[in-house]
Amino acid sequence: MNDTVLIVGAGPVGLTMALELARYRVPVRVVDQMTERAYTSRAVALWPRTLELLERAGDGLSADLVTRGNRVTVAHIIAGTEPIARIELKDVVTPYPFVLMLPQSETEGVLGDRLAEHGVWPELGMRLVDFTRDDTGITATLHHADGSEEMTRFGWMVACDGAHSVVRHRLGLAFDGETRGDDWGQGDFHMTGVPFPVNEFATYWHEEGPVVLFPMAPGRYRLIVGLGTSTGPAPTTPSFEEFQAILDRRGPGGIQLQDTVWTSAFRINERQVNSYREGRVFLAGDSAHVHSPAGGQGMNTGMQDAINLAWKLALIIRGLSTAPALLDSYDPERRAVGAGVIAASGRLTRMATIQNPIARRIRNAVAQFVLGLAPVQHALEGSMTETSIRYDDSPLNGVSWEAGPRAGSRMPPIEGEVPYGAGDTPRFTLRAGAWAEEPPVPLGDLVDLAIRPNPVDGGIELVRPDGYLAISVADGEWEPIIAYLDHFRPAPARPATE
Ligand SMILES: Cc1cc2nc3c(=O)[nH]c(=O)nc-3n(C[C@H](O)[C@H](O)[C@H](O)COP(=O)(O)OP(=O)(O)OC[C@H]3O[C@@H](n4cnc5c(N)ncnc54)[C@H](O)[C@@H]3O)c2cc1C
Repeated sequence: MNDTVLIVGAGPVGLTMALELARYRVPVRVVDQMTERAYTSRAVALWPRTLELLERAGDGLSADLVTRGNRVTVAHIIAGTEPIARIELKDVVTPYPFVLMLPQSETEGVLGDRLAEHGVWPELGMRLVDFTRDDTGITATLHHADGSEEMTRFGWMVACDGAHSVVRHRLGLAFDGETRGDDWGQGDFHMTGVPFPVNEFATYWHEEGPVVLFPMAPGRYRLIVGLGTSTGPAPTTPSFEEFQAILDRRGPGGIQLQDTVWTSAFRINERQVNSYREGRVFLAGDSAHVHSPAGGQGMNTGMQDAINLAWKLALIIRGLSTAPALLDSYDPERRAVGAGVIAASGRLTRMATIQNPIARRIRNAVAQFVLGLAPVQHALEGSMTETSIRYDDSPLNGVSWEAGPRAGSRMPPIEGEVPYGAGDTPRFTLRAGAWAEEPPVPLGDLVDLAIRPNPVDGGIELVRPDGYLAISVADGEWEPIIAYLDHFRPAPARPATE
């Protein structure tokens, strides 16, 4: 049986996928058609939930990212000179109560270095041109940079090949949605005169279109500007002078661009694939969903796709489970999250680009009131930081004990503890109250041996390797947990009663 996983694409999602599988001791090959690594900035925001989940891949991985980036804890929305909202991230319950601003190239660099520690290096200049698939694997045709071609057999394939995914096309999957008509320009600039501290970012709503300023380092900012609708075949990147003029008209005034690090333009697409899985082929990241960059969640959502899939695939490939439910759960869990991100980022974009003056006045008044309400602020913090992502309707959810969180909830990492799902084998984690009875039978190797204390006394919780609650029961009620684990265990069933 060929167990090697072919990962197509060495962007942030492919690298995350490769790192998660490699550290779980699953053989991988990562190919990318680019002949050298991309050194441009692109996505700049790493949100708390992504940092929580990445930390599982190795002690200090997220700390390493954090030391390279800029921590931003406050988001402002301003219409003209009128403050509309101030959203604080510092109260979010997470070890990372901030959004980390870091160029995508650096995020990819850190992931690539960690991957190399597991003896895996992406093969650059290697393009997937075709593949066939059957019940036992995939035969891939790979085109080398020197023009030669290779046909190789793999057990599984994960398409992390971006928005124009060849894999998605070859599978004939629909990528439904729309191309919005509005264009955007963005760039990283050194600038002076920004009237807020380096740990705050601001969105300016303006009748001509929004302007967003993200501080990446003292004196260096990501500037994003709405360019309105266009009919051209592709969006045109504004010149240095045009960026400056837009900033002067729509921003707070007094900001001076010094020099350009990188610029680009994009047109917003809102699309999602109709299935994240076809047999032994999975789609993750931009190959499965694209949307407005408002909220900066594209890359983060893709990386979390990879983290969701990796432990399930590792359990199957390592023979620790044979349950079809594991891999079947990837599509419903992640498609629901992707749809939510598309809807939320689309709403934010539409709100920021309202043109009608009366509608704008109403928007400002309503937003000022609503965004001032504590529950709304709390909900917004949760969705921005992706800490409110949960799998309420997951087919993997067991029962929920009434006094604790529901199955599918995010279980935040606890300071001083090894993260859920760390190490070289994906295992569930048990939390039990101080007075909980021992399980009546050994729980086997799907579960970490060490039972951790449950801060909510009186309940037993089983946490998935990706830090979501699988099942919870009252103290002493081991049977549902034993049955839950039996469901995933390969035959023969659990070890005999001692
Ligand atoms: C100019 C630009 C600016 C952006 N700005 C932002 C931003 O501000 N905020 C934000 O959230 N997102 C932004 N994005 C989007 C963000 O970069 C993506 O969401 C993220 O890169 C998705 O990661 P991915 O790994 O899924 O795909 P990608 O990063 O697109 O990686 C796909 C990889 O697959 C490779 N590949 C494709 N086809 C094949 C093949 N047949 N064989 C082998 N290899 C193949 C490609 O070479 C590429 O390296 C930006 C993107 C661009 C291009």
